Amino acid sequence: MHEKKVCSVLDYSVEGKEEEAQFDAVLDKTLSLIDFVNEKESMPFAVFKPTGFGRFELYRKLTEGESLSEDEQKEWDRVVERFEKVAKACYEKNECLLVDAEESWMQKAADDLMEDLMEKYNKEKVIIFSTLQLYRHDRLDYLKGLHERARKKGFKIGMKLVRGAYMEKERERAEEKNYLDPICASKEETDKNFDDVLKYMFENIEDMAIFCGTHNEESSYLLMELIEKAKMDKNDNRLWFGQLYGMSDNITFNLADQGFNVAKDLPFGPVKDVMPYLIRRAEENTSVAGQTNRELNLISKEKKRRKL
Ligand SMILES: Cc1cc2nc3c(=O)[nH]c(=O)nc-3n(C[C@H](O)[C@H](O)[C@H](O)COP(=O)(O)OP(=O)(O)OC[C@H]3O[C@@H](n4cnc5c(N)ncnc54)[C@H](O)[C@@H]3O)c2cc1C
Repeated sequence: MHEKKVCSVLDYSVEGKEEEAQFDAVLDKTLSLIDFVNEKESMPFAVFKPTGFGRFELYRKLTEGESLSEDEQKEWDRVVERFEKVAKACYEKNECLLVDAEESWMQKAADDLMEDLMEKYNKEKVIIFSTLQLYRHDRLDYLKGLHERARKKGFKIGMKLVRGAYMEKERERAEEKNYLDPICASKEETDKNFDDVLKYMFENIEDMAIFCGTHNEESSYLLMELIEKAKMDKNDNRLWFGQLYGMSDNITFNLADQGFNVAKDLPFGPVKDVMPYLIRRAEENTSVAGQTNRELNLISKEKKRRKL
């Protein structure tokens, strides 16, 4: 891929094991990956997901304002330590770090940790990237609040922008527990929210860095246009496009060909442990409004064109 100027993000995507030994194993794997990718021009990012480093229930309790028992507090301290170790290793090796976002009812605990890390390691430039899921209607306000705090404290904000991969689960839980659905009412609203946040970040690029993680052509075009209009370097290191390996190669390789920074997220791990990841992708790929339908249309159009 790098011969075609596409970078790789090695993503150890094991999910669902909720034991200390497993969290430590994921930490070791992540740290060894940071060593492995260090100084490889083709791999400028390390990545992990919050629940790879700690039990979901701890994040949930903190997010929902519940207090932790003494033992749980100790367990949480170890989660914080794992985040810190990875962030520090990235900072020392000048490698950027992407941290995924997950379900809304655990996310605030992760957001708070990420803010602390940004404050510590994003003083001169962005090393630490958190994630905004723009199917959530509260994220622009959250970003504006964070921006204010970042200005006051003198740190920069790194964000991976995605639409979000847990929509059905989110809606079901909101209905079941009778709280306001955190997800935008329609696909159009999600699309608008994504583009609004992208524009906000771009307008404030002096304080921020963007990793635009999407298979949506319109959003990708929008960032390309913003970059071109502002006459910024296409390969400015604050501006990244990202797609998942195996999806939307038409977008990835065209962006790379035109000189934009683009990376493929490459999930890996023992097949049984990456099943939850694979299932999310399979669900996403059957969504009518999603990218796969658009991609299939493009392929059949091209097949017809070649026959003619
Ligand atoms: C590099 C990369 C990293 C990623 N990291 C994460 C991550 O950390 N956390 C995470 O949650 N996801 C992550 N994703 C997945 C992402 O959130 C999306 O599920 C996926 O990319 C599909 O969205 P899209 O922007 O490509 O565009 P599209 O295919 O245009 O949009 C599909 C998305 O729109 C939204 N949507 C669909 N229907 C509706 C509706 N009726 N109402 C409201 N919204 C709707 C959903 O979010 C759906 O996934 C990542 C994706 C990429 C490419």
